[in-house]
Amino acid sequence: MSFEELSIADRIAKIRPTLPESVRLIAVSKLKPASAIRQAYEAGIRDFGESRIQEAIAKQEELEDLEDITWHFIGHLQTNKAKLALERMQWIHSVDRLKLAREIQRLVEKGSPCPNLCLQVKFRPDANKSGWDWPDLEPDLPRLDDLSALKVQGLMTILPFGLPSEESRVIFREARQGCDRLQEQSWKHLHFSQLSMGMSDDYPLAVEAGSTMVRLGRILFGDRPQ
Ligand SMILES: *Cc1c(COP(=O)(O)O)cnc(C)c1O
Repeated sequence: MSFEELSIADRIAKIRPTLPESVRLIAVSKLKPASAIRQAYEAGIRDFGESRIQEAIAKQEELEDLEDITWHFIGHLQTNKAKLALERMQWIHSVDRLKLAREIQRLVEKGSPCPNLCLQVKFRPDANKSGWDWPDLEPDLPRLDDLSALKVQGLMTILPFGLPSEESRVIFREARQGCDRLQEQSWKHLHFSQLSMGMSDDYPLAVEAGSTMVRLGRILFGDRPQ
């Protein structure tokens, strides 16, 4: 039987043992129905990634009986949806601009819960993605560090589409080194213990370079509708 024909549970059973235990496997369920999440849950997955807040909430309501799911937001977050994201998600991997960080600070000061956060960074220019260009993050870090309500835990990165694996490996290593360098500095509030990188096409390289969280969609759930 080819990999494509395997059930969600069989795919998880094949992939999970290839990851170090310390690497968190986030099953990216965007555009997939709640029934697919339930199958992955039954196969042991507890971390799910969604990229649209309304879609995530609809699935959360369908899956209310699964009380120990950790929800990860991985999409571009509009400022006017930030409050919902804080209330509904336990992680936001895609804090991609200072303005959004400031809005989260404001909402948390007013009583919203603060999820764990990652700063989204681009290690190569990529017009199709949001996030700080890596050289631009550094000047914003002192400002981010002043936002005392934020729970920044690390960095998230997505590679430009379709790179040869040698190039991917180089970038993932740069990301690991960049994250290490930030972790060595002393911050008031920022932490850099997490590095969220690796998707279906490139996660083995990301894990080899020192990813702590991989975000896998198609390889677990099959292709998404376009
Ligand atoms: C869709 C998405 C993923 C999962 O991508 P796959 O190629 O399906 O594994 C991971 N991270 C982010 C930010 C995404 O938007």
